[in-house]
Parts: sequence; C-alpha cells; structure tokens
Amino acid sequence: MEYQVTIGLEVHVQLSTKTKAFCGCRIDFGAKANTLVCPVCLGMPGALPVLNEEAFRLAVKTALALNCHIASSTKFDRKNYFYPDLPKNFQISQYDNPLSHDGYLEIDEKDESLTKIRIKRVHLEEDAGKLIHQKSYSQVDLNRAGIPLMEIVSEPDITGAQQAHNYLSKLKGILRYLAVSDCNMEEGSLRCDANISIKTADKKALGVKAEIKNMNSFKAVRQALEYEIGRQKEILEEGGKVIQETRLWDQDKLKTFSMRTKEEAFDYRYFPEPDLPLFSISKPEIKKIKDTLPELPDKQKKRFIKDYGLNNYDAGILTSDKKLADYFEETNDILKNPKVVANWLAGPIFKELNRRNLDISSLNITPQELFELIKLVLDGKINITAAKEKVLPLMIESSKSAVALVEEEGLVQISDNKELENAVLKVIKENQKSVRDYASGKENVIMFLVGQVMRQTKGKANPQMVKKILKEKLKCA
Ligand SMILES: [Zn+2]
Repeated sequence: MEYQVTIGLEVHVQLSTKTKAFCGCRIDFGAKANTLVCPVCLGMPGALPVLNEEAFRLAVKTALALNCHIASSTKFDRKNYFYPDLPKNFQISQYDNPLSHDGYLEIDEKDESLTKIRIKRVHLEEDAGKLIHQKSYSQVDLNRAGIPLMEIVSEPDITGAQQAHNYLSKLKGILRYLAVSDCNMEEGSLRCDANISIKTADKKALGVKAEIKNMNSFKAVRQALEYEIGRQKEILEEGGKVIQETRLWDQDKLKTFSMRTKEEAFDYRYFPEPDLPLFSISKPEIKKIKDTLPELPDKQKKRFIKDYGLNNYDAGILTSDKKLADYFEETNDILKNPKVVANWLAGPIFKELNRRNLDISSLNITPQELFELIKLVLDGKINITAAKEKVLPLMIESSKSAVALVEEEGLVQISDNKELENAVLKVIKENQKSVRDYASGKENVIMFLVGQVMRQTKGKANPQMVKKILKEKLKCA
C-alpha cells in the first residue's frame, strides 16, 4: 500500500523584546525565580494589560516576511484553562481575528526546485510560567509568564518528516534574518508541535490526525514524525483505526506516547479579551514596517548566484544563516574571489562549525584572518589539504594566525623540483604494481600514487607539481 503523509506545524517563537507582552516587566533568563513579575503578569484582580508595541511590530514584521496578509484590525482573546503555571487561568491569545493570515514560505528541494508551504496565520500571544519539578514537590517560576510569543501555523502542506525539518530550518533562517528572536530551541525560544495523519492514495478525505508535542530539536521533530508515520501505517495495515489524540515525544525511548485522547481534549472557551481594545493597523504603518525588512535569504541567495556566480548549493548554505552570509561578503571584499571564499565557507568552515556545534558568530577567526589562510594556499605556500585539515582546526583551537601556525608546524609546501622528483622516484620504485596498472590504462591509479608521495612528504608536497612530475616519470617507467 502506498501512503500519503500530511503534516501541519505550529511553531511558537519567543520574541526578543526587552519587556513582556502586556506589562513592563523585564525579560531576563538568568534572573532569580519570581523576581520579574508584577500585578499584571501575576493575574491580580483589577490589573490591566497594555500591549507592547514592539512585540506587535515584530510579529507584523515576521508576517510580512512570510508573505502574509496583515489584518486591517485585530483583536485579542482569552484562552481559558487552569494550570499551576498560569496565574490568570487564561492566556491572552488571538482566536478568530489574528493579526495576519494566508502567507507562505518556499523550501528548497534537492533537485533545486522550490516547494511552497502555505502559512495559515501568524499571531501574537503570551507565554505561561514554568514549573520546576523536584522529587516530591514542584515549584513555579512566573518570570516567563507574559513573555510575548508569536505562533506561526502552517497549512497541512508538508508531506514527510524530512520536509518538516527543511521547513523549520528555513523558518528559523528567516526569523534570524529578521532578528525577531534568538530561536534557541534548547532554551525554549522556539518550540514546535506537529499534526500528522496518513491515508492511502485512493482516499480523498485526510486521515485521522495525531498531535505530537514535546520535541526539543529539529532532529527530534524529524525522528518523532518518522516514528509516528511508522506507527500509524502499522495500525492501518492491521486493519485498525488511528484515534485522534495528543502524543508526547520521548527523546530517550525514541517513541511517542499518548497523552490525552479527543474525549479529554480541552475546550478553551475562547472569548474576546475585554481589557484590550480592537487594534487597527493602517496601510502607512504596514508600509513603515515593511521598509524595515532586511534582504531575506531567498532574495540574497538569488543575488549570490547572479552576482558572484555561486552554485545553488553553496549559495543555499551561505544564506542559511545571515551571519554566515555577512561573513562571506566581508571575506570576499578582501579576497575578491567569491568562488574560492564560498568553497571555504560552505566546505571546511561549515564542517568545522557543525563538528564543534558552533555558529559563525562564535568562530574566533575574522574574515581578515581567513583571507590570510586562503592567501597562503593561493600563493602556493601551503597545500589545500594541509590548510583545511591542519591549519584551520589549529586556528580555531589556538587563536593563532595562519602564518604563525604554518611556521610552527613546519607545513611550508615543498615546491622544490629536485626534492619532489626524489620522492616521486621512491614511490614509483615501491609501487611497481600500480605502475603496471597505470601503463595498462588504469589512469585513476595516479591519484593513489600522488597520495603516496603526499605521505612520503608528510603532506607538505605541492600536489599539482607531484601529479605533473608523476605523469612525466610514469611515461618513461
Ligand atoms: Zn509583569
């Protein structure tokens, strides 16, 4: 049986404002519990909320970047539920009149095509407090209560676990370009819930969906969805029925577990928040916010391809993070060789950053210092392998300059003809079988022999020269 997967994602993003959504309390993650609170965010009787203009502006800015329509007027609603981390017993959110609706974002597929994922709405709401569970009791910290959250809801256009991962990466990239949030998933500034259902291709109606919560990384989202697709398939294949329920992802067991079924689903009894007015957003105000939008990743990617002649892959990696894109342009301003700079950043640097779980802003190599390293290679002072595999990691670890490290480690490239000839002759002598293979037409063997010479010279030989000399010598061998 062939199954079709339908996924919709709800993403909550903590906005990086200085103060909370409806009061003047400061936002600070390191602060002592319950020190950043006031009658409004504690839900004291008679306390009145006042909308944080900056939070509203950031949400509109995001909605515009996601191609949404901005409502001409918008209202806030109370979402009622009782929970110890929610002192008011309701959350101020937006129900039937969100500040924006009907946008989209495009994700890049492997074959370089684009898939449009529709965005249903972007709205503004407030966060709840935090429960800290101890062994036999729990504590509540209300510093987080009232922090502005933006909810971004996609239409169910996502067709697989990997695509969900790509959607989130793209969305995070855009949010960081906009500087509306730090998007730190570990600290909870970006949270994601997923709705997923499957059905056989012959059925028109969508299958029964499950809602998955508690995924703390993009990888967890992918794993949870992969697990859930398998679980639902198994139920259908055994002739059973998937039930509508909320499930929690368990990162240790790599499984989802039922949290509550439809019968127990919350009825939030939404009603308009009587303490906040209807907010109108005028066209000139929207235009003013639109004018603050930076060049977004898609547009920048096109420019990198057009102006710098980069390929789709490199341009995609460089524009996945605004800081990486800026770093690229700064380095290229010095070197004036975009392809070489892009190769370095999308290749070895990107690899080193991933390996160390760093992003470019925490890399202790400035564009000028990277330029100096690349220059050593271009001038033939060191070979590219030594530069990537030895000098670059050492630069990251030691903060020393490329020039100093090449000196210290004795990595200056051997470009002396006589010395290289001797090494080549030695390798030819020791690898007679390869030499015969080469003579019989297996030309790939030359790369093996180049490798042997590199080993012989402890990686210091100039590989282009080695290849040239090898070819000459093999002709006469
Ligand atoms: Zn407050």
